[in-house]
Amino acid sequence: MTKLSDIYLTFDNSEGLIDKHLEEMIVDCFNKSYQGICDFFNDGNLRKTSIVPVPDYDGVAATYSEEAKVIMGTKYYAAHPLDADSLTHEWVHVAQNYQRYEPVWLTEGLADYGREKFGIYNKEAGWALPHYNERQHYTNAYRVTAAFFVWLEQNVRADLPAKLNEAMKKDTYTDELWVELTGKTVDELWADYAKANS
Ligand SMILES: [Zn+2]
Repeated sequence: MTKLSDIYLTFDNSEGLIDKHLEEMIVDCFNKSYQGICDFFNDGNLRKTSIVPVPDYDGVAATYSEEAKVIMGTKYYAAHPLDADSLTHEWVHVAQNYQRYEPVWLTEGLADYGREKFGIYNKEAGWALPHYNERQHYTNAYRVTAAFFVWLEQNVRADLPAKLNEAMKKDTYTDELWVELTGKTVDELWADYAKANS
């Protein structure tokens, strides 16, 4: 049976820079999550994507959106051999392919929202969304913002993350969108979230 990874993923690990077990986990994640990611973030269109292990990159992973290329920092993965779903976050970026990265908190919050929603091995990697605390703000991006989005989806409007993605794709996002979609500003919604989770 043809797998999604046979068609849409190029992962050259011939130099063995990524542990074999982690490589298998990543490919498994791709086969289980990529369709869902593309359905949610890219109207069901699957982009061909590649993974390139990079020894001199000091970060975790990064996506070059136009080329749909994801680089992996091999030092990080040697120390975190179960963090396969960090790639799920990057595949959200591949699917987002926004014209603009800003607001960064929104783009990165949606990427971790996607990791939460479509990830396969988050638990194995010790990755989870945080509970609210008063040091947080929605502009913190990543997991903090993702936890806010999950709460909004469950308590305010089920299609809100999808609508935010849609606006980012069309490059029509403004802060006004929050009011249009929910009747409240993002700051008012954050205050509601804080109150409900304190
Ligand atoms: Zn990211």
